[in-house]
Amino acid sequence: MWQTIGHDWAVALFTRAAQTGRVAHTYLLTGPEGIGKRHLARQMAAMLHCRAPQPPCGRCAACSRVASDAHPDVSMVSPEDGHLKIAQIRAVQHDLSLSPYEGRWRVAIVTDFQTATVEAANALLKTLEEPPSRAVIILTATDASLLLPTVVSRCQVLPMRAVARDEIQRALMERWQVAEERAALVARVAGGRVGWAIRAAEDAAVLDERAKRLDLLQEILGQGRAARIMAAERLAKDDEGLEDLLRLWQTWWRDVLLVASGCEGLASNVDYGEVLAAQAAACDMRAAALAARRIDEALQQLEQNAQPRLVLEVLFLGWPTLRPARA
Ligand SMILES: [Zn+2]
Repeated sequence: MWQTIGHDWAVALFTRAAQTGRVAHTYLLTGPEGIGKRHLARQMAAMLHCRAPQPPCGRCAACSRVASDAHPDVSMVSPEDGHLKIAQIRAVQHDLSLSPYEGRWRVAIVTDFQTATVEAANALLKTLEEPPSRAVIILTATDASLLLPTVVSRCQVLPMRAVARDEIQRALMERWQVAEERAALVARVAGGRVGWAIRAAEDAAVLDERAKRLDLLQEILGQGRAARIMAAERLAKDDEGLEDLLRLWQTWWRDVLLVASGCEGLASNVDYGEVLAAQAAACDMRAAALAARRIDEALQQLEQNAQPRLVLEVLFLGWPTLRPARA
């Protein structure tokens, strides 16, 4: 049984392809960060290697090796220093040219293909034009429009969309045995991002880390200029986690706006209801909207390789000052 939540049509489509021996050479899974692309890609690879009557069973040696990126016939490649590089694509090409060790297929999962350099994208294109016979390539990207059209046209594109909150909650309770209250919170905070929800269900540290990050935002909002500049400097040192952090903070400002306009039912950070209400009362809607928009700008600047420290400094100094609402 597939260990996925939602995306049923993609699961059905791939299952049929595998059962009828008509697996495409290249799939492209698209959707926002945390939607579950990497997870689905691993499940697809498990489907091709699991020999249980109803693959992927999630329990056999093949399934667990795929899940832990330890299967000899499945390679997983992700950006290094923010980009997929030509050397990584060459390594994938080498892997795919070998015949399978254990299974029937060599599978390469290449994540975040929107970060590929022009050379890397062109190199992969050659493989897509003439794929080795036992090879399956699964690409993931946030958006197909960010890739070379010549790459996209050679892929079977599976666009992944946000999954409904109650569907996520139900699946977490039934299949991951998460208690109801926690499942409700995870489903809500996930905002349709199944990949994030599964990570949070499997690892308590994910929710703790989120709380820490939201608390940090409150701390910064209570600080003056000098302390904000220091916070920017400190946070800029971890530029790997920066995008996630900013996206979380963006949900915060969206929630402030929602609460301020009387739509608290739609807010995602429900466990912070009181803080949200206090901030919605203390800062006007224009300031909250501006704060959210500035995060968009910051994310764009980081994408264009601006200096993280400067980006964060400008961002933090532009935010309103709000005293901590919690006693
Ligand atoms: Zn299995």
